Amino acid sequence: MPMTEDNLIQTFQLEQSNLRGRILRLGSVIDDLLRRHDYPAQVLQLTGEAAMMALMLSSMLKYEGIFTLQIQGDGPVDMVVADITDHGNIRACARYKKDAEIPEVSNPMLLMGKGYLAFTVDQGPDTDKYQGIVALSGKTLQDSIQHYFSQSEQITTGLRYLLARGDDGHWRAGGIMLQRLPEAKGENRGEAHEDDWCRAMVLLQSCTDQELLDPALSQNDLLFRLFHEEGVRAFDPVPVRDQCRCSAERAENILRMVSAAERADMTIEGKLVVTCEFCNRAYGFDAEALEQKIAGSGPQQPQE
Ligand SMILES: [Zn+2]
Repeated sequence: MPMTEDNLIQTFQLEQSNLRGRILRLGSVIDDLLRRHDYPAQVLQLTGEAAMMALMLSSMLKYEGIFTLQIQGDGPVDMVVADITDHGNIRACARYKKDAEIPEVSNPMLLMGKGYLAFTVDQGPDTDKYQGIVALSGKTLQDSIQHYFSQSEQITTGLRYLLARGDDGHWRAGGIMLQRLPEAKGENRGEAHEDDWCRAMVLLQSCTDQELLDPALSQNDLLFRLFHEEGVRAFDPVPVRDQCRCSAERAENILRMVSAAERADMTIEGKLVVTCEFCNRAYGFDAEALEQKIAGSGPQQPQE
């Protein structure tokens, strides 16, 4: 099977200006992920953008486990979550007030109101969770991400991304991120450092919407087109997959964590159903058999 150019994230280096960047193109992965959800258009947009940002941010870290980006707010959409395993398996979902009207806004982030953006890296039970957190600032998700990096890491970040539904009804996404690290001690390039950044940003901003999403334009060709004067060097691309981590065992554990009375309330025609919020897969259980099983096994620790 020929290597597809879609659903890849790739690190690149600009040799002239000594800047690091990431490029992301998503086709079937983002389309499958979003089509599974029955959300209003603007909530889908937010969910997709969060997934893109999570992919960009997770690719900057070396980890074994799960990277989670969570946005929480007090608006009509109160939560958006995207998480990625170190194997590139991504999933994402949103929570919104079903009875509230989702207003038409120029930018879907306005639907989240005031709140924060947080990311964690969970590497297993006995390891520290790395966490970054920033108040939602400015109007766009991009503003909040840039604010986070400048505040907590002193990294200046340039971003250009787009998520859109094509004429064929399918979603596509493309994004490029450039980052400037603070100058190392003893390194005092001053104005040259600033010039390098400005030049690279002009090139980044010259990328058109069409180029970001064009399935016929490969990631490498796009990088070369934008940055060839800077001596662009691309590293091996990493594939991204649309893959949830839910299972019957996890669904059963959720049911074990609630009381027998709550389970009885949830039972319809002798059946208990747990639906995964990320992928909408439904797990059905026979209520009576489950109660017997729980009574027989005693309390069990939930497993993550
Ligand atoms: Zn699932």
